[in-house]
Amino acid sequence: MKLSRQFTLFGSAIFCVVVFSLYLMLDHLQLDRTKNPSSGAGKLFHSGQLTILQEKIDHLERLLAENNEIISNIRDSVLDLSESVKDSKGSPEVGNQSRVGYPELLASPPLVIPIQQEDCHFADNFSVTNGLLLLQMLDVYDLLSFDNPDGGVWKQGFDISYNENEWDTEPLQVFVVPHSHNDPGWLKTFDDYYRDQTQHILNNMVVKLHEDERRRMLWSEISYFSKWWDSIDSQKRDAVKSLIERGQLEIATGGWVMPDEANTHYFAMIDQLLEGHQWLERNVGVKPKTGWAVDPFGHSPTMTYLLKQAGMSNMLIQRVHYSVKKHFAIQKTLEFFWRQTWDQDTTTDILCHMMPFYSYDVPHTCGPDPKICCQFDFKRLPGGRISCPWRVPPQTINDGNVKERALMLLDQYRKKSKLFRTHVVLAPLGDDFRYNEASEWDQQFQNYQKLFDYMNSHPELHVKAQFGTISDYFSALRPAAAVDPVSNTSPLLPVVSGDFFTYADRDDHYWSGYFTSRPFYKRLDRVLESHLRAAEILFSLALASVQKANKWNDFPSLENYKLLTEARRNLGLFQHHDAITGTGKDWVVVDYGTRLFHSILNVKRVMANSAHWLVLKDKGAYIHSSSMPLLQMDDVQPAQDALPRKMVLKLSTRSLVIYNPTEQDRWSVVTVYVNTPRVRLQTASGHAVTAQVSAVWEETTRASREAFQLSFVAQVPALGLTVYRLTEAVELRTVPVDYTFLKQHEELSVDSAEPFRVDIPQDDSLPISIENPLIKIWCSATTGLMEVIKYKEGGVEHKVEVGFVWYGTTSNRDKSGAYLFLPDGEAKAYTPNHAPVIRVTKGVVFSEVTTTYQHVTHTLRLYNVQGIEGQSVEISNTVDIRGEFNREIAMRITSDLNSSDRFFTDLNGFQIQPRRTMAKLPLQANFYPMTTMAYIQESGVRLTLLTAQSLGVSSLKSGQLEVIMDRRLMQDDNRGLGQGVQDNKITANLFRLLLEKRSETFKWSYPSLLSHITSMYLNHPVIPMVVSPNYDSLTFAPLSPLRAALPCDVHLVNLRTIQAKEGAGPSHEVALILHRRGFDCEFSNRNMGLLCSTTQGKVSQHLFSELSVQSVTPASLSLMHTLDGGRSQEEIQLKPMEIRTYRVQLR
Ligand SMILES: [Zn+2]
Repeated sequence: MKLSRQFTLFGSAIFCVVVFSLYLMLDHLQLDRTKNPSSGAGKLFHSGQLTILQEKIDHLERLLAENNEIISNIRDSVLDLSESVKDSKGSPEVGNQSRVGYPELLASPPLVIPIQQEDCHFADNFSVTNGLLLLQMLDVYDLLSFDNPDGGVWKQGFDISYNENEWDTEPLQVFVVPHSHNDPGWLKTFDDYYRDQTQHILNNMVVKLHEDERRRMLWSEISYFSKWWDSIDSQKRDAVKSLIERGQLEIATGGWVMPDEANTHYFAMIDQLLEGHQWLERNVGVKPKTGWAVDPFGHSPTMTYLLKQAGMSNMLIQRVHYSVKKHFAIQKTLEFFWRQTWDQDTTTDILCHMMPFYSYDVPHTCGPDPKICCQFDFKRLPGGRISCPWRVPPQTINDGNVKERALMLLDQYRKKSKLFRTHVVLAPLGDDFRYNEASEWDQQFQNYQKLFDYMNSHPELHVKAQFGTISDYFSALRPAAAVDPVSNTSPLLPVVSGDFFTYADRDDHYWSGYFTSRPFYKRLDRVLESHLRAAEILFSLALASVQKANKWNDFPSLENYKLLTEARRNLGLFQHHDAITGTGKDWVVVDYGTRLFHSILNVKRVMANSAHWLVLKDKGAYIHSSSMPLLQMDDVQPAQDALPRKMVLKLSTRSLVIYNPTEQDRWSVVTVYVNTPRVRLQTASGHAVTAQVSAVWEETTRASREAFQLSFVAQVPALGLTVYRLTEAVELRTVPVDYTFLKQHEELSVDSAEPFRVDIPQDDSLPISIENPLIKIWCSATTGLMEVIKYKEGGVEHKVEVGFVWYGTTSNRDKSGAYLFLPDGEAKAYTPNHAPVIRVTKGVVFSEVTTTYQHVTHTLRLYNVQGIEGQSVEISNTVDIRGEFNREIAMRITSDLNSSDRFFTDLNGFQIQPRRTMAKLPLQANFYPMTTMAYIQESGVRLTLLTAQSLGVSSLKSGQLEVIMDRRLMQDDNRGLGQGVQDNKITANLFRLLLEKRSETFKWSYPSLLSHITSMYLNHPVIPMVVSPNYDSLTFAPLSPLRAALPCDVHLVNLRTIQAKEGAGPSHEVALILHRRGFDCEFSNRNMGLLCSTTQGKVSQHLFSELSVQSVTPASLSLMHTLDGGRSQEEIQLKPMEIRTYRVQLR
């Protein structure tokens, strides 16, 4: 069996070699043709025909030599692979067929990956269950007219009337829920808010809640709560615990922050929830039951899913489009079960309360009339710092006015209750940073208590009013709505699926600006996410390995764990709805940026420290030195607001360690900077590897002579480390790229460097093309922008034009700002003042077209890799609009796909939401958040734009996708920020464009497996580390920690070491978080470069090659609850789309 496997491996290698060699030949022939399109006309080279011929012969000779190298290289890989197959102990398991299946796959082209039909058709037969009313949000949008009539006192609603005796048989039950919304950074930094407000709120809370046990308070942000907890003594802590035990204080949600739900990726959403919940479990011992999200600017079902998986059964949301709120109020569907679109039963249902009115402040929570409700915000009593804008102030409640006041308030409660299906009413009582002064506690609690006492002592009013927490409210609501405690269904409440984007709070004020605002930091966030995840995994592997080797004390586990903890918290903080959204003050943005920046540096250290142990061949030689680390990252970000720069490696001999943080074996292009083009690149076992050398362009047309890009295809096993050696060579062992420069109507002089050939063709009218074995693209010779893309298999060719456009801002009083997008009509074409310089690079590892405009440097790149990387076009834009005035720049992709008004965007990188561009809505309403992808499709084709940062996206016309890349706005948009967005940075945007053939049309749409894995490659690049020259004598061994790569559709969200019960260090347990991705079967599974299979969601618990899994205990998402009786399981099985967490002991 093993022998035959090796033979198949070898066969596959030979096949690869043949294909690759053929391709190389073709590529170079093509390269010569396009590079010198005018040779027939013979303007330049007429006299030098012989020289050219000679050059071509030289070129071919070089190619032959390269091919020999490639052959030997692939032979090495095959040997390495077969060795690792031989080494892996035990028989291969069902569920982990990838490495077993892999050689067979490669050996018999075409490559078809085994996909069970049931693995992807799960969402096809979506049905309505239980006979309940099911609302799809997209259908609701179809239904609404989005008119904005004046509703009277409830401006965006309608008149509410009721019958005095409606509550005679069943009294109205009112829960007034005091809360204080504490933004972890917005107008002040997190620390400044804490110092000035939050600590006082919490300190007063302990005193004031103890004064009267009928009082209640709700808290949700653990970032603040934990900071305060650290500052109080044990007596006070006990007092807080008793408040929680008595139900006076409720911790709702319990995440590190109240995250934004548009720009956040589910990795970070989970991570901040886990961090908050882990903190609560260790310190307070409380398990949140209810989600509380009063301020995020629109709501995503991903958050809902995560809350449910974390063990919560209820939730509340607030910022929903006013027309949707009104519709839900008319239908009395403001309380519903929120269900995931793929769910066939009630598994994902969570009971959700949507607040009906404009805001979560007191004027908009007691009932429909803000003028009345404001009079019941006793912080606004005359003489205070704030008053009521409706000009009727509150009155202190006394015996003389209590009747009149109580009836007035009851009238509001009754009206509010008419929007719901039960007799239970929720009236939140709070606002931003409320209850900071002791006097406010007295004002609110004493006055309300008098009102309650009056109402409750008058049976003829048929009301019971009290302070409550949000869970008190839901505890009363559930029986009132006849929710079956076992099936979690109610005959009264409807089911809703879909999302609540894009939010508008009034008029045409759509909050689609923040999908893009401060894009530099949206990118930086993703960089920290991928580095944190990579570091968590590598640290967990290193720690288990260290433990196994009895070297626990030699490894700096505590120091590294502290760095990880800090990074989790900084990343968590940035998920806040004024952080990743780009809606904070300039200096607050700098504070966040600095935290992200430091944490990126720190998790890189954790990665380097962990890789140090793991890559050492002789573990006995392990010595940790923090002053002289073995490994260093190859890039440096000089400041929080600067783009990273590659370090230039000075060669004589250097070793590189490449880390693959993904759960799939991977062939990926790695680029490092070296100080010479003459480099010999070898694997750890000494076999030569083909490397491309290209120039580092210091300016558009001036190449560095000190630095060169060295690019090669690194082969790294899933979660593994591979070692390469770079040696300075006497001769040119690398393959230099060839350059062609173009600029319309202008002489160009290019200051290149040896050994590159630069061509400046005289006839610059012919289209430019680049290609790899799978794709060919054509670009305009005038603009450098893509026009046509062709997939070679099947010869499918499509018009796919990439371009740039500008949006201005309206001339109306209200203009675009950090939150709002209020454009001055349709976008205008980007028309540069000067013709751009176009640089075409053609090489053995990649080819690219780079065009330099004043505001964007735009690169289209194709990787010459047979696998995943070769399937899509990489687009990178370096955007700089610092000199602009009230302008936003967008990249627009215009294709010949007949997509009509349909498009699809992801939500939080977790699921896909179908969208419809609606003419009845203003332009800005048709923009949606894009976290990882957006696509359009027609019957046979899908075009997907994959992104490495969150941005706003739309499809305004059939065949189009457009993404806002940066926005510079000179004014405030009147949502409290008090400034525009003028701190723009030079910002890097990274995308991939994927064109796929598809067969059928399903109602529910999912990404293909290829799209999922391409997105993973984009968001989790391989990480090169450089060995310090001081450690040249050590020997390194590649690491292949997994017994087999995970199934194609299973994503390792995290492998996160759990904190020890005592102290700040790590425990011996890790949280294994897996996600089974939903994918479409309507795509070919031939020749996609996937080397994995699907397994009906089964994952063997024998995951690791060296380490053994001692126990696998299922837990709730954030580890708060133990599931299935806490028994260790033999096998992990995930349902489609499911995210599950397991407590795992590794040894
Ligand atoms: Zn807020």
